[in-house]
Amino acid sequence: MTGGTDILPSMKRKSVKPKYIVGVKKLTDMRYITYKKGDGLRIGATTTLREIIESEVIKDRYPIMIDACSRVASNQIRNVGTIGGNICLDNRCMYYNQDHIWWKSREDCFKRGGKQCYVVKRGKSCWALSMADTVPAFIALDARIKLINSSGEREIKLEDFYTGEGRSVNNIKEDEILMEIFIPEGNGISVFKKYAVRGAIDFAIVNTGVTMSMSDGKCKDIRIVVNGVSPSPERLKDTEEFLKDNNLSEDIKQILDSLDVEDTEALQKASEKIQKIIEIRHLSNHATPKHQ
Ligand SMILES: Cc1cc2nc3c(=O)[nH]c(=O)nc-3n(C[C@H](O)[C@H](O)[C@H](O)COP(=O)(O)OP(=O)(O)OC[C@H]3O[C@@H](n4cnc5c(N)ncnc54)[C@H](O)[C@@H]3O)c2cc1C
Ligand code: SF4
Repeated sequence: MTGGTDILPSMKRKSVKPKYIVGVKKLTDMRYITYKKGDGLRIGATTTLREIIESEVIKDRYPIMIDACSRVASNQIRNVGTIGGNICLDNRCMYYNQDHIWWKSREDCFKRGGKQCYVVKRGKSCWALSMADTVPAFIALDARIKLINSSGEREIKLEDFYTGEGRSVNNIKEDEILMEIFIPEGNGISVFKKYAVRGAIDFAIVNTGVTMSMSDGKCKDIRIVVNGVSPSPERLKDTEEFLKDNNLSEDIKQILDSLDVEDTEALQKASEKIQKIIEIRHLSNHATPKHQ
């Protein structure tokens, strides 16, 4: 546990009943933000969301992180909640996140050790959703994480950290802790968007991180990540592939010119393509101008 803003409410609801709790917040060696030109940015896992929001180097180089961290919960929670806790956040489900009194009248679901799922009837796995706000931004930035235990450390891409199953959401080992997040040097534009029912404190219905670099008016490299829609954050690789090497200004015209209006299947496909272009243009228009 670090800030305790998520694990403590879960314990009060009796959703999790840990035998022991290890507090890592006071490990000040894990509380830092360092940037080295040509290398990238390193953030210690016990750094608070507030410290990231106030970091001048992150404001200047990775503004997408400021947008993402600023949308987590409330001021009070951002003051104590940490980046490590956000990356390791448990998945959410409207059934699982009820308290133990509510659960007294029902059989447990998979995530509580039972044999069924209330969301997907006759389902065989748990579909609780991954919702952490900083994660799509970090994956869009191609972040890597460092995990340590008494026998050493390992470094993996953040996008490989999540399992796609709502019961055990990431592949951290029992004796490991998350030590550091590393973001390589990048260039281009980046944007974070979150849609939630309420503007104030609320988990995302969907949140998105996009990074894109352009060359000669064409999309050179793009990473689009959505969260809040499945048990793991998802990269939209088909859309990325479609947009790569495309001249976003010319595409819609070309699609319309080549269209056979009698062919309903072609019309459907064209409409999907145009929708993608409009979405990405919309994101670009709202993008913070750089992460470099
Ligand atoms: C009312 C409310 C609203 C919220 N709204 C949002 C929101 O809008 N968006 C959002 O993303 N989150 C939200 N949260 C969740 C949470 O507050 C944040 O995700 C926060 O960043 C968690 O950080 P923490 O340090 O408090 O984590 P903790 O509660 O301490 O830990 C969370 C989990 O991460 C694990 N963990 C923590 N640090 C490490 C580490 N270094 N190594 C290994 N495992 C670790 C813990 O074991 C635990 O499983 C909300 C919480 C509340 C109570
Ligand atoms: S999605 Fe997961 S947490 Fe939600 S009811 Fe199904 S098994 Fe339980």
